[in-house]
Amino acid sequence: MKVLKFGGTSVGSAQRMKDVAKLICDGRKKIVVLSAMSGTTNTLVEISDYLYKKNPVSANEVINHLDAKYQQVIDELYQKEATKQQARETLKTNFDLLRSFTKSAIFTLFEEKSILSQGELMSTAMVNLYLQEQGVKSVLLPALEYMRIDKNGEPDSAYIREHLQKELAKLPDNTEIYITQGFICRNAYNEVDNLQRGGSDYTASLVGAAVKAEEIQIWTDIDGMHNNDPRFVEGTKPVAKLNFEEAAELAYFGAKILHPTCIQPAKLEGIPVRLLNTMDPQAPGTLISNEMIRHEIKAVAAKDNITVIKIKSGRMLLAYGFLRKVFECFESNKTSIDMITTSEVGVSITIDNTKHLDEIVNELKKFGTVSIDKDMVIICVAGDMDSENVGFQAKVVNALAEVPVRMISYGGSNYNVSFVVKAGDKVRALQALSSHLFN
Ligand code: ASP
Ligand code: MG
Repeated sequence: MKVLKFGGTSVGSAQRMKDVAKLICDGRKKIVVLSAMSGTTNTLVEISDYLYKKNPVSANEVINHLDAKYQQVIDELYQKEATKQQARETLKTNFDLLRSFTKSAIFTLFEEKSILSQGELMSTAMVNLYLQEQGVKSVLLPALEYMRIDKNGEPDSAYIREHLQKELAKLPDNTEIYITQGFICRNAYNEVDNLQRGGSDYTASLVGAAVKAEEIQIWTDIDGMHNNDPRFVEGTKPVAKLNFEEAAELAYFGAKILHPTCIQPAKLEGIPVRLLNTMDPQAPGTLISNEMIRHEIKAVAAKDNITVIKIKSGRMLLAYGFLRKVFECFESNKTSIDMITTSEVGVSITIDNTKHLDEIVNELKKFGTVSIDKDMVIICVAGDMDSENVGFQAKVVNALAEVPVRMISYGGSNYNVSFVVKAGDKVRALQALSSHLFN
């Protein structure tokens, strides 16, 4: 069985929902994971924000506006008056719930999570009803009955596998399409929770792993993972095949198309992940799997808002335990490190979360002279960077001959060379890499 995930834009209007329906109806059994209609989750965040600020009047206004939008979609989506009526009744329970929060005095994280779950509950109900109106054997597979995170907020794979199987077994055997909600789940206390913003990809990967799917397809509005960022570089092309490791480097270092944690469950089960385009369904897209295409540089990605921290100290010279002390400052401040480069007398470290920057710097000053560069960018070049590919790193470094480079990292994995440059040099660097490596 395949698992197909469609993001917010792919279900962003009545027409797009109809297009998705056409795409998924080929007579084969499949699980379809849907995001909320594009813009909905942001609107639900806005509603929660007003409620936190004890402004129910504005929250209500936003709810009414959202409600009107959904009524319009219902009118456009369904043919029969009876189905429209059924859709209105279904969505009324979602909007009644949203409105109930504007009447109560308490508003906490718990209520917010309940609000945030409504987007996926609505989009899946609507598409499922549409498929049924079209005569397709479609059923809802309720994510809140099987998707679960543990006390640490990590997916509980054993629970997910067991309960997903149970839910599937409850549904009729002749079902063609199981429609399920991306993003939403329950936590260890059985409360409604979620897999963090953009988490629908993660749902698809977890579901795929749980049912040992033959393939997981992530449908978006771009024809796969491109070899460079199409917003800044002309003539980028989709990469046909990527290894899981290469894809993880790219996703982590900026390729927006995939949520970085998402591929982990698929990778562990060895399930191929295919990235496809709803606007151009015939395009081959990108296939991510355990297969490794050797001797090729595959793609470039950039991650913005990077801060570089440099610690220079004579005490590091020939000493042991120095790096441990440095890393402990980041650990105790719950800040993860992206990239490091070291010399015998200094170390440069990049972070993207600067919430605890002041505390970190303060502590690091005990060990050496600290300096900071803000507004930096990590440029990641991914591919087969095994050292036996003599000259690959040289090619990459040469491409940046005209760009001031602050840090270079090579050899951490066999899959990337990464650079840190100033934000102002990013576009130039991306363009230079494309013209030297891919043209
Ligand atoms: N609807 C959620 C969000 O906007 C999850 C997702 O789309 O992946 O973050
Ligand atoms: Mg998304």
